[in-house]
Amino acid sequence: MTAPAGVTVRVPAKVNVQLAVGAARPDGFHDLANVFLAVSLYDEVTATPADELTITCEGPDADKVPLDRTNLAARAAELLAARHGISPAVHLHIAKDIPVAGGMAGGSADGAGALLACDALWGLDTSRDVLLEICAELGSDVPFSLVGGAALGIGRGEQLTGLPVGGAFHWVFAVADGGLSTPAVYGEFDRLTEGVDVPEPTASPVLLEALRAGDTTALAGALANDLQAAALSLRPSLAATLTAGTEAGALAALVSGSGPTTAFLVKDAEAAESVAAALTASGTCRTARAATSPAPGATVLPSA
Ligand code: ATP
Repeated sequence: MTAPAGVTVRVPAKVNVQLAVGAARPDGFHDLANVFLAVSLYDEVTATPADELTITCEGPDADKVPLDRTNLAARAAELLAARHGISPAVHLHIAKDIPVAGGMAGGSADGAGALLACDALWGLDTSRDVLLEICAELGSDVPFSLVGGAALGIGRGEQLTGLPVGGAFHWVFAVADGGLSTPAVYGEFDRLTEGVDVPEPTASPVLLEALRAGDTTALAGALANDLQAAALSLRPSLAATLTAGTEAGALAALVSGSGPTTAFLVKDAEAAESVAAALTASGTCRTARAATSPAPGATVLPSA
């Protein structure tokens, strides 16, 4: 008998090129206008048949990934199995390249990846709409990990509209030591904006046009993250990383999502290499990675 075949799904990280955050709602969530762009840093989730749901993880940050039922990949398998009235008997292996707790939606990526991998492994052929519903149940960033490309997310960020992107953008991501908790960053945002009349979050027309045109210079001028001040307040050392990248020639720098990863938009692949080298040498981050966007969403890889 041959060993049971597995299904591997590759799924991208994201950067928020605009993250507009409204005031805290009565339920504690914030309304967002969130422009997501998928970038070419990927996790791979492999699903193989097993007696029960188990998870393993490999990669530089593997020790920071929970291997119990709180892992978003495990929760995805459970929700999908429950929808179809079957048991989540699967082993999920995560090859992790996306920084953990870095504001790049690594956990969300694994949730979307596991969902697609289990759906293919179990031969369920779940409709795209139902997959997206399950993603939204898993977390605000998970639907985008499934679709990739670029999208505007409103509500908590989970109501997505795809956006056209007219060309490739080049990035460097500086990975910080240690993570930042997303709820803690929102808490700090609430503290910093106490008594302030926070405007309704809306997508910037200038930014959407820059994406549509594939215009790097225009995008550099339009990048915006309303969580940046809160992330910098909790992690003041990020200011030095932002400065090091800008001094090395990045066109623009911002905190990625809730941080502490910082994102640098650069002119081309050559600039990405030199900015990444300068950031690494600056000692202001753990490592720096070059990537391009847009990247495709969760994709089943051909079996080896
Ligand atoms: P986001 O950008 O969506 O706010 P993030 O990139 O900052 O998220 P994640 O890497 O998703 O953060 O991790 C946040 C926390 O989620 C981790 O500290 C970990 O406890 C938990 N977690 C659950 N599942 C996973 C997973 N598959 N990979 C990484 N972290 C996970």
